[in-house]
Amino acid sequence: MAESAGILGDGTKAVKIHHLIKAPENTSESISFRESWDASRPVTVYKTPENLPDGTPCTAATVILRTKGCAWWWKSGCTFCGYFNDVRDDVSADDMFSQWEFAKESTNNFEGCEMIKVYTSGTFFEDRENPPEWQDKVLSETKEMGLHLVVEAQAQMCTPEKISWVAERHPGCTVAIGLEAYDDKVLRFHVNKGFTIRQWHKAVDMLKDNRLRVKTYLIFKPPFMSEGVALNHTTSWLGDVAQFSDEVSVNPMNIQKRTVVDRLYRNKEYRPPWLWSLVEMIKQAHAKTSETGCRVIVHPTAGGKVRGAHNCGSCDVEVVAAIERYSVSGEISEFQGIDCSCKSHWRAELDNDLTLPVPLGTGAFRRGDPVDIIRAP
Ligand code: SF4
Ligand SMILES: [Zn+2]
Repeated sequence: MAESAGILGDGTKAVKIHHLIKAPENTSESISFRESWDASRPVTVYKTPENLPDGTPCTAATVILRTKGCAWWWKSGCTFCGYFNDVRDDVSADDMFSQWEFAKESTNNFEGCEMIKVYTSGTFFEDRENPPEWQDKVLSETKEMGLHLVVEAQAQMCTPEKISWVAERHPGCTVAIGLEAYDDKVLRFHVNKGFTIRQWHKAVDMLKDNRLRVKTYLIFKPPFMSEGVALNHTTSWLGDVAQFSDEVSVNPMNIQKRTVVDRLYRNKEYRPPWLWSLVEMIKQAHAKTSETGCRVIVHPTAGGKVRGAHNCGSCDVEVVAAIERYSVSGEISEFQGIDCSCKSHWRAELDNDLTLPVPLGTGAFRRGDPVDIIRAP
């Protein structure tokens, strides 16, 4: 029965999301799959073009470590987060040191980079997730190498002691918090974030008191929300959080394997956002965000693919490129002259979402002829 459980149910006893999504991750097959990863190597190390806090273009190294994973995920977890696919709960302190050494060796001590993002699929400075002596080493070494450091954290993990400890070892670094939504109801029922707006504000104040930079992630189109409502919400959240952040990164939903969102998607109860919605959000929020001086980044992971933000298939490359250019230049003119016939399909979906009582939205598969899609059973 669990297999066919839809959002509205079929009259039988409700099935807990835990049993559909989390429990299968504790089967011996899932555990042995995760434990087949080499714990002494990071998940990945790569370089990308970036901007330093003062706007100067630079090269950034990104190191994604194979950690024990996010303490919140083990307890409950955000509805869209597939980071657990890359973690294993038996990673030792020695493994973490080997992964860090590997990252340095493979990049010749981050040669040519001025910025480094050290991502741990959770909170960098959470002691249950990452050994404190390892955190200390990464903070101090990146400081000595003159690299601007970006780490990630959950808001409730930011305590006065820990934040001042971080600021002592790497003054001025950036702490990125996945707030996702500036709305407590959405945080609780759509994202299952594990903290509230009040806790986020507290963390932001703490970071500012310690002269650390604040980066805020927002998610575009959490589950159980239509395209039209997502556009209205995220546009207003963007304006709201920009005034408290040095940088805001809006992450359009991409479907990560074995998550709540993945399950909804496979049940045809969720569609990733349209690229047009991202363009519209940027245009509507631009005046307000540019006033604050906050940098806005929109990076459509898997953009143009059906599991990422996408349009009709023929204009995707062009629209993704314009969004990426906007993230670097902050110029609204990047979208001038970009158009496609699928825009009217997108507009009709927004109008329907905002006028019909369909909480999950009216969106359907959007590749191919819209008339055929509507006719399809
Ligand atoms: S807090 Fe971050 S790492 Fe943890 S479950 Fe949520 S999105 Fe994933
Ligand atoms: Zn198109």
